[in-house]
Amino acid sequence: MSRPNDTNTPYGITTRLAHAGRHPDEQFGFVNTPIYRGSTVLYPTVDAINKREQRYTYGTKGTPTADSLNTAWAEISGAAGSVAVPSGLAAVALALLCTTKAGDHVLITDSIYRPTRVFAADFLARFGVSVTYFDPMIGAGISSLFQDNTSAVFTESPGSQSFEVQDVPAIAAEAHKRDITVIMDNTWATPLFFPPHEHGVDIAVEAGTKYLGGHSDLLLGMVTANESHWKRLRNTYDLFAMCAGPEDMFLALRGMRTMHLRLKQAEQQALAMAHWMKARPEVAKVLHPAFSDCPGHETWKQYFKGSSGLFSVVLKPYSDQAVAAMLDGLELFGMGYSWGGFESLIVPFDCTTYRTATKWNPGGPTLRLQIGLEDVADLQRELDAGFARLRAIG
Ligand SMILES: *Cc1c(COP(=O)(O)O)cnc(C)c1O
Repeated sequence: MSRPNDTNTPYGITTRLAHAGRHPDEQFGFVNTPIYRGSTVLYPTVDAINKREQRYTYGTKGTPTADSLNTAWAEISGAAGSVAVPSGLAAVALALLCTTKAGDHVLITDSIYRPTRVFAADFLARFGVSVTYFDPMIGAGISSLFQDNTSAVFTESPGSQSFEVQDVPAIAAEAHKRDITVIMDNTWATPLFFPPHEHGVDIAVEAGTKYLGGHSDLLLGMVTANESHWKRLRNTYDLFAMCAGPEDMFLALRGMRTMHLRLKQAEQQALAMAHWMKARPEVAKVLHPAFSDCPGHETWKQYFKGSSGLFSVVLKPYSDQAVAAMLDGLELFGMGYSWGGFESLIVPFDCTTYRTATKWNPGGPTLRLQIGLEDVADLQRELDAGFARLRAIG
């Protein structure tokens, strides 16, 4: 997006969210780039087909819809380039595929999104890439885990169940001394609350399924890279032709225009709910990066511009039946995976079974809450009744 002629001041983020990636002059004046469905692109002459220099050459390589989304997302992320893939997990896979080869070693945070862990165990291992998990609070201590063949460090800050905030800049500083690529799953904060490439991340992954889509009706992944990693990312993306569908990219563009409003509202509502939960006698601990007792809170304060609508709570010791009675009676809170939509969700979770580098011992049942755009008083009334069911069984 070009700057005004008379100033070098960059546009503010909300201005960029409204204008990035749009070219009405190329679309007969229409505000939005439409859905281009297309595989074949025609060439006017033999000379043109031999040279392949025209702007569009084949559907997998790019369309105006894909260009709109990718240029906008790269701009918002402060990246050299961006690609859109069919899901957040596909984005995770692509980031790992473009930074590893047989014989390499990868470091992954122990608090990682679980399907990322399964991808490493079931796929990377098969192709001769070894993995070591690390304590999410390790910071600069990551250097003690580097091996001669370490090619990438995969971070996710905060973890999307346990909410440890990692010191990604400190990890990146150590990794870059050894030419090791830093990958970050930035789905929770989004580039609006944590501009990844300003903080040393080489390749950032975002599940567009969450706040970019924002309506629980889209599956999409975005992968961005800085200057030094962009060619590698784009090349691997082209080898797989891992392209997202045009309707999905259009929905992502539509979501992007209001993303900051939804995110800010989710932040406010989630903070209100988290403070209310903290004061409840049934709750032992709230796991929310904006709370001073959340592991890595100081790092969050130093680098993040906000918090999103997802956090967890640790309940005091209650039976499984009591927790089930609490959750089964909820109407406004849906029970289901994913998050970042307009509606509230709650799910029980348990990290104890799969962690390997750290012990997860919360001391009570754990619940993850996604706070949507409903009236906070209604959400509180509903949980209040749920807590009564919890206590009644005990
Ligand atoms: C949801 C999620 C993903 C995967 O996104 P999908 O589009 O559901 O595949 C990746 N990372 C994190 C942190 C997520 O929450």
